[in-house]
Order: sequence, then structure tokens, then C-alpha cells
Amino acid sequence: MSRNPAENQLNLYKDCQKEKTISVTSNGAPVGTKTATATVGERGPVVLQDVHFLDELAHFDRERIPERVVHAKGAGAFGYFEVTHDITKYTSAKIFEKIGKKTPLAVRFSTVGGESGSADTARDPRGFAVKFYTDDGVWDLVGNNTPIFFIRDPILFPSFIHTQKRNPATHLKDPDMFWDFISLRPETTHQVMFLFSDRGIPDGFRFMNGYGSHTFKMVNADGKPVYCKFHFKCDQGIKNLDVKKADDLAGADPDYSIRDLYNAIAKGQYPSWTLKIQIMTFEQAEKHPFNPFDLTKVWPQADFPLMPVGRMVLDRNPKNYFAEVEQIAFAPSHLVPGIEPSPDKMLQGRLFSYADTHRHRLGANYIQLPVNCPYRVKTNNYQRDGPMNSTDNQGGAPNYYPNSFGGPEPCPFARKLQNGNMKVTGDVNRYETGDSEDNFTQPGLFYRNVLDEAARQRMVTNIVNHLGNASAFIQERAVKNFAQVDGDFGRRLTEGLKLRRTANL
Ligand code: NDP
Repeated sequence: MSRNPAENQLNLYKDCQKEKTISVTSNGAPVGTKTATATVGERGPVVLQDVHFLDELAHFDRERIPERVVHAKGAGAFGYFEVTHDITKYTSAKIFEKIGKKTPLAVRFSTVGGESGSADTARDPRGFAVKFYTDDGVWDLVGNNTPIFFIRDPILFPSFIHTQKRNPATHLKDPDMFWDFISLRPETTHQVMFLFSDRGIPDGFRFMNGYGSHTFKMVNADGKPVYCKFHFKCDQGIKNLDVKKADDLAGADPDYSIRDLYNAIAKGQYPSWTLKIQIMTFEQAEKHPFNPFDLTKVWPQADFPLMPVGRMVLDRNPKNYFAEVEQIAFAPSHLVPGIEPSPDKMLQGRLFSYADTHRHRLGANYIQLPVNCPYRVKTNNYQRDGPMNSTDNQGGAPNYYPNSFGGPEPCPFARKLQNGNMKVTGDVNRYETGDSEDNFTQPGLFYRNVLDEAARQRMVTNIVNHLGNASAFIQERAVKNFAQVDGDFGRRLTEGLKLRRTANL
């Protein structure tokens, strides 16, 4: 039986080896034996002077770095982005400079709530993070396979994630935690409906869309800003797994999505996505009936049509998973001139949190790691030293600014773009957003206009089967929220939960 490229990886490695390599210690000295410790006599004990053995164990003991708090399980790949349409009237970002321009990139797809050993086929949003190595530094677009998110204020993020993880006493996933939070915060309704619809379990990573999700700002060469959203539309078409198949795969092949992506790329079946943008002017944003920076809402495509920009192709597998995928560090704060944050509160929270977690997970110099460094520019700046500095530390260049000795100077063009392109006034306050924004209009459109009858019914069944495990008072509160989306939705859920209870008596 022929083996797929992932199964055959070691044989492929062997075939590429031209000559034998000699094993050395971590300090580079040739090793005489790899199969026996140095002992006093044949039966031991082991002597302290077996420094090679001690070094091997000490390094092994330190092999694990902290796994990501969210998005711990994932797959990575490399490729390029090619511009197909001119958007220079909106942005001066060099990646979009001219049609035909190609920029190298890295991607990491992931689940969200599970640990690094969890099943790929869980019902969960999928992370869709892209790192563009542009001429102007690294730009990370760190999104999901959904254009929206559960919450709109980042202060809720740690609590929200806790409810998706394990109960602190039982160390089990807990439907009460999940649905308690969801039902107490009705702004989650839209994303919860996406989650329990067919697209809640994509068939691997190749058959799903990606979204920058947040509202961003683009600035053109004249310094004129617009707001924008990014959509990666899957060229392979959307494919999802039905619940039974996903459950079976969770046991039979929990690494299904990683394997699928690796084998497709190894066989030359390179997945691709078409990047599209939506643009909203500042004037439109002021007049818009809802808050355009609310991450629980989309921009209607009829009002803000999708415009094609280019194509992302993945054509290389990682050579080493740890070096290139476990250590890859995406951060929404990795921005380049021409692309800026909007006032979206969730984005503002993530601007801090991602780089912060990488400093903890990988260290203060995480950005120097080969997969993370902006290798297409020379990083001339005033940062120095820190643990595990692996560059020339900028040699003898001045480490203070201003200076009279030729240290790097600010870029006038970047300054022109960033200056005065947004005016904000208001009182500093803590503004509650749970009910102040419309939580149900867009979920209603999703229910009535986007899902067909069969898809609606599957979503209802999926919710009933999950919500039915929560306490009765939580079920009631959740159904009340869903009933505000559409009366029919509420009725079907009430009926489904009743039938489920009767069946379980
Ligand atoms: P449109 O009627 O113009 O398009 C519907 C959108 O829904 C398409 O982008 C489609 O993606 C997507 N879609 C279809 N099935 C699902 C699913 N099961 N889960 C998630 N997305 C799905 O949309 P409008 O802009 O008029 O918005 C109407 C509603 O559509 C929104 O309230 C929102 O719920 C949903 N939606 C809107 C998006 C947007 O950016 N405006 C994006 C995604 C969903 P595709 O074309 O890839 O099939």
C-alpha cells in the first residue's frame, strides 16, 4: 500500500542524505557512544562526569515551552501573496504596491479552545493567522474563519476563554460554564450561531474562509485614511464535516487537519485563497446605523461590496514543526505603514495581549527567531540586549536617540501617514456594551436569509445537543436570547430541548 507524504517523511529525509553525519555534543565535540551511560562497573551507578548524558537529560527536561493559552493546536505552512488588483488609492502599504508583486508569507491555522494534543475536528472557531514578510517589515493579519467574534469589549476576554476551557475543579469541559456566560452576554449570539452552524466544523484547514475580522484603517500615500475589512475567500470551496464524521475522526485521527494540509502541499495540491476587502469611508462610518467597530457585526456586503485584491498560495510545508510553527508568533500589533488599527476595542486589547504573550512564551527577543524576524529589512533601532539575543545586537551603532553619530533616523514618509489621520473626542469612562448595541438584527438575517431550511434545522439540533447538557435555568435563559433572533428559532429550540429531556427520562 502506498504511503502518503506525511507517513513517508522519514524515508524522504533519508533519500535526500548524500553522506553520513557524525553525532556531536551540544558543544560540538564528536560523540563516541549513544547507547550506554558511563557507570562504575557494569551494574552502575552512573558517574557525574558523564557530562554528555547530563546535558542530554537537562536539555530534554527543557524541551517544552508554554503552549498558547488559546489556539494551542495548529498547523503551519508557507507561501506567497500576489497582488491582482490595484488598491493604492486606499493604502500605501508596500505589499499592495503594484499588480503582480509577490510577498512571502507564513500561515498558521488552529483550533481555539483545545490543548496542543486535542482533536482537530472539534466544533470551535478556527484561527487563520497570516504573517506577510513585506519590504516594510512584518505585517500580521491575525484572524479567524469567522468575520465576527463572541464579545465586543476585551475586558471580557479572559473570562470568555475560561468558559471555553476546563472547569477549575473537575478539569472537564463544562456546559454550564459555556452557556452561563453565553446566555448572560447576548452579544455572543451571532458568533454562537456561526459556531453551531455547518461551518462550525470545517473539513480541515483548506476548505474554509479566513477573515481579519476587525475593522482596520488603510492610509494612502497622501495620508488619506479609510476603514477596511479583510476577507480571504477559499478557492477550494467551502467543505464542512458532519457531526458523526467529526466525532469519529476525533478518535481515529485527532490530527486530521494537520495531516490533510501537510499531505496536500507535499503532493503539490497548493491551497489558495482570494483576498478581498470592504472599504468604508470616515463619512460613511459616522452615518452608519450601527457601530462599524463592533466585532460582533459584519458590514453588509450589499452596502460595502467585496473588492478583490490578490491571491494567497501555500506551497511549502514547515521543515521543522517546533522551529517554524510552535515558535511562530503572530501579533495584531505587527503593522506596517499604510495599515493601522481602528478604534475597535477588541483590536485595541489584542494589540497589547499578543506580543505580551509571546514575550512570556518565547522571550523578550521572540522577534529575532528566524520565522518571526522581518528578514526583508535591516532592523536598525534602539532595542538592545535581553535574554537569548541572537543577532549582532547592532554592533557599535549608538543605542540612544537622539544622537550625533549616525544612528537610525525616523522615516518622514511613515510620519506623514500616521500624523493627524484620525480625530477622537469623548469622556473617559467605562462604557457598558452588552445591551447598548443591537445584538439580534444580524443574527436574524443569518437565520432567515443565509441558512437554508436544512442548515437551520442542523444548527438547531447542534445547539439542542450541546445546550441540553447545561442546567435548566441556563437553558431557559439561552433560549430567551435565541428567541429574540427569530420566534421560530426560539420555538424550535424549546421543542428540541423538550424532546431531548423526554428521551432521556
Ligand atoms: P450576504 O447575503 O451578502 O452573504 C452571506 C454571507 O454569509 C456570505 O459571505 C457567505 O459566505 C456567508 N455564509 C454562508 N453560510 C454561512 C455559514 N453557515 N456560516 C457563516 N457564514 C456563512 O451577507 P450580508 O453581508 O448581507 O449579511 C447577511 C448575514 O450574512 C450577516 O448578518 C451575517 O450573519 C452573514 N455573513 C456576512 C458576512 C459579511 O462579511 N457581510 C460574512 C459571513 C457571513 P460565502 O460567500 O463564502 O459562502
